[in-house]
This record gives sequence, structure tokens and C-alpha cells, in this order.
Amino acid sequence: MAFRENPLKLGFGLMRLPKNPDGSIDVPQVCEMTDKFIAAGGTYFDTAYVYDNGDSEAAFRKAVAERYPREAYTVATKLHATIQAHDEQSAKQEFQISLERTGAGYFDYYLLHALQRSTFSKYDDYGLWDFVKEQKEKGLIRHWGFSFHADPDLLEQLLEAHPDAEFVQLQINYADWENPGVASRRNLDICRAHGKPVIVMEPVKGGILADPIPEVRQILTEADPAASCASWALRFACGLEGVHAVLSGMSDLGQMEDNLKTVTPFRPLDEKELQVIRKVQAALDADKSIPCTSCHYCTKGCPMEIPIPEIFNVINRKKGSPKFRTVREYDIVTQGRGRAGSCIACGQCESACPQGLEIISLLRQCRAELEK
Ligand code: SF4
Ligand code: SF4
Repeated sequence: MAFRENPLKLGFGLMRLPKNPDGSIDVPQVCEMTDKFIAAGGTYFDTAYVYDNGDSEAAFRKAVAERYPREAYTVATKLHATIQAHDEQSAKQEFQISLERTGAGYFDYYLLHALQRSTFSKYDDYGLWDFVKEQKEKGLIRHWGFSFHADPDLLEQLLEAHPDAEFVQLQINYADWENPGVASRRNLDICRAHGKPVIVMEPVKGGILADPIPEVRQILTEADPAASCASWALRFACGLEGVHAVLSGMSDLGQMEDNLKTVTPFRPLDEKELQVIRKVQAALDADKSIPCTSCHYCTKGCPMEIPIPEIFNVINRKKGSPKFRTVREYDIVTQGRGRAGSCIACGQCESACPQGLEIISLLRQCRAELEK
């Protein structure tokens, strides 16, 4: 069965949904965002079993499945073999729970989630490749694939071992284009060579490219004062050949409106604009910020309850900020939780990090700078 056409290209990523002050998802705002998205021609929604501990799938049900006919949307969700699962049975149970939580009836796209060097063997051990094919045969999945966070060699290996995977979800953005830890360009080339459509995740790198370092903002603003920084990142990803959808994890109505403005109508970056991107890539190469996307996969099993992404955010924003303010911010984010210095170097976080960050060593640096 062919993929349903997706002329808008933009997909609504449900990973960073707007929150109420108590930390719950702001469902009325998600409904408003959904209405704008669908009115503009959007159809592709992307969630996952582990997003917001299941609240993302539940918010999808309230904002989309209970408010729109099934043919108005397509939905993707994902099964993660290690974050909340501990054996074959608990991993496979995620599928049924996702079906119930989303209310979708079936999944247009179903993914084995976040395959990386430290986790991919679990998907074999638990028989999950065959499991998704069985669900497809039952009519509960239209298309199945996997999302991937690792090196080109492993991607080749997986595509050779599983040639019937129908698509691959990759982290692609201009900042990671040649980043050896992410390998956006090389992994995209491999998928194209295997004839696999690509779903792009993190086109704005977890928001980093929407609110970039001052050097980058200056280059982009000089090139086009009317364009948001996020629009450059989105246009870069949407213009790539072989891409079926570009998922933006939008966190408020303003981001939805800005993204819709960027893609309706869509205009790919021209040669002059691509030169601006090359200048920005050079500025990012010279930058020493920690490229953490705040996905929080690392914090779920940290025995010391260290708020790793929040600490990295403090250190990234330290540049140009008075020291007392940085230390105050650090005290706030670590209040009642572990501090950088409480890390026991167990390594759990590093095996979960899709960005391949050397978290233990980075926390040591944070400790030296923030706990003096
Ligand atoms: S290595 Fe440190 S930060 Fe990472 S999970 Fe272990 S204690 Fe937490
Ligand atoms: S350190 Fe890695 S796993 Fe943790 S939030 Fe950042 S990118 Fe995600």
C-alpha cells in the first residue's frame, strides 16, 4: 500500500506539547493547534508510547481522534524496548496500550523507537521486528519502520537485515548535517539508496535552531529580517529530496502559526539562502554549547535524579550572563534533585542519549563551573 500523500510536508510532533503550570498538557491549546494544522491541510501526527509518560498519546486522543473523522488524519506512534519496558512482554504490551490511549483504531505508521548502538539488539532479542509485521497482517498497522539515532554503518546493517522496513525516521537539520555523532547527510543518503522514504525529526534540533546562539541569529536576521530563525531550519529540511514528512515538536500556538506560515506556500531555500546556511553551519562549528535537545531520555533512569538537560541549558546560557544569575538558575533547577556533582558515573544516561553526548564528562565540567 502506498503512503498517503502529504502535500503540506509539515508533521505535528507531539513530543513537546504546551503545559499547564502544574505540568499537565494544556489540551485546549493542543486542540486549537490541531484545528489550525488540519485547516491548513496538515494530516501527519507523530507521538510515542514514552512521550510525556503516555500523556502525549492521551492528548492526541482528546485533540484529534475524538474530534475528527479517521480519514482526516494519519498518526504515527512508537514502541521503545528499553525506556519503560524491561522484557519482551512489557515491550509488546506497549502496542496495545498505545492503541487504547490514542483511540486511533489502527496506526498509519508504527515505529520501533530510537534504535541506537546501545539498544538495537533488544529489538532482536524481544522479536519486535516480527511483532510489528504480525500487527500489520492483522490490519492494525498500515506502514512500519524505525527511528534511528546512530552511525551510517549501523543504519546499513539494519536496512540489510530488515529490507521490508517501509520507512526510516532520521534526525536531520542543518546543524547536524555533517555532525559525525548524528550524520544527517550520510544517513539520508543511505535511506535514499535503499529506496526508503524518510521522516525527518528534530529539524529545529529540539528548539535550539529556533532560538540560536547570538552569532547565528545575527546572520539569519541580516539575511532576512522578516523570517523567524525556525523558518530557516524548517525550509532546509522540507526541501530535501526523499522526505515524506518533517516533524516539528510544537509547544504553543505561536510556533504552529509560524511553521504554517513557512510551509504555506512552501518555498525551498535558493542558492543564495543555502550560502547563508553554510555561514551559519560554520558559526555553529565554532560554538562550544552542549548540543542537548532536552528530550529527557537520559533522566528517566538516573538513580541520582539529576536534571541533566536543565543543567546543560543553564551552562549553555551562561555565556554573557553574570555569574550570580547563572548560579541562582542552577540552584533553582537542581532544587530537591541531584546536582552535577552527585553523578556516580553509572553510565545509564549515556546509553539512553540519542545525541551520543558524553554526559558524565560534561557533568564534571558543569560541576567545576557551577559548584565552585
Ligand atoms: S551517569 Fe550520572 S547522570 Fe548518568 S544516570 Fe548515572 S548518576 Fe545519573
Ligand atoms: S543529554 Fe541526551 S538524552 Fe538527555 S536530554 Fe540531552 S539529548 Fe536528550
